[in-house]
Amino acid sequence: MEMEEVHCPLCEASERILLHQEGSFQMVKCPSCQFIYLNPRPTHESLLHFYQHYLPENGLSIKAWQKMMQPVFKRAADLIQQYKEKGRLLDVGAGFGFFLSEMRSRGWEVVGVEISQKAIDYAKEVLGLTVHPGPMEKVGFPENYFDVVSGFYVIEHLPHPMTFLKGCYRILKPGGLLLLRYPHTTPIKSLLSLLRIENRLYDLPAHLADFSPEMIQRCLDRIGFGECQHLIGGYTLPGDIRKRTASILFGNLSEALFYLSGKRFLLPGVSKTVLAFKGKFLW
Ligand SMILES: [Zn+2]
Repeated sequence: MEMEEVHCPLCEASERILLHQEGSFQMVKCPSCQFIYLNPRPTHESLLHFYQHYLPENGLSIKAWQKMMQPVFKRAADLIQQYKEKGRLLDVGAGFGFFLSEMRSRGWEVVGVEISQKAIDYAKEVLGLTVHPGPMEKVGFPENYFDVVSGFYVIEHLPHPMTFLKGCYRILKPGGLLLLRYPHTTPIKSLLSLLRIENRLYDLPAHLADFSPEMIQRCLDRIGFGECQHLIGGYTLPGDIRKRTASILFGNLSEALFYLSGKRFLLPGVSKTVLAFKGKFLW
């Protein structure tokens, strides 16, 4: 894979501190804005190539993937419907289209964007969905167009996260809802490295950054999103029994702590969901 050195994708600072090494890859921290990112990282071209084979490719593993993601998708769909009437939804990084299909079954008008051609073909041919080849900025959606934009495990893959967030803001209607789900890996990574437990939790070089709820909030603030809500938002159900047990255990533990703390405590190290509204919104 062809790699290149980059400056901090958020603030352009060139200084950095080595945080974690995973194989030959390095996650670094920007000393001026605290952003955690992969450096050096794969070039744009090699990433596009890489994503053609990133998702599962045969029928059986696609089904397993659907099963794993289902609880997260259903939870997100319920969340969206707490705040929004049926409307027009865009899912960025739509994969095979399972979330789009869930929302369509609930009466929403849905469209997706995806990088992997095989996933686009599946969404179109098997599920009959409309999915455009990404990145989103290239599709040219009109301004103030969507009631909801969602992105599951997308923002950590993007070389320019701020450009993506600006793009989401532009195409959302005033009062429109952005739902993002992302891994929050650094705290657990740091713990495991203290215990000298080898792991590949950062999923490098696929993940170009690791966001915390605080960092997501700062980015959304800068774009002009109104008040945001941070949640645990369910957990995945991987096929592998050990991973599944860990996911259920940490998922339930983090949800329990979240509610017991009056929706304040977000267990570090587990995936998070954020809801952000374009413009002011009264909770
Ligand atoms: Zn920075």
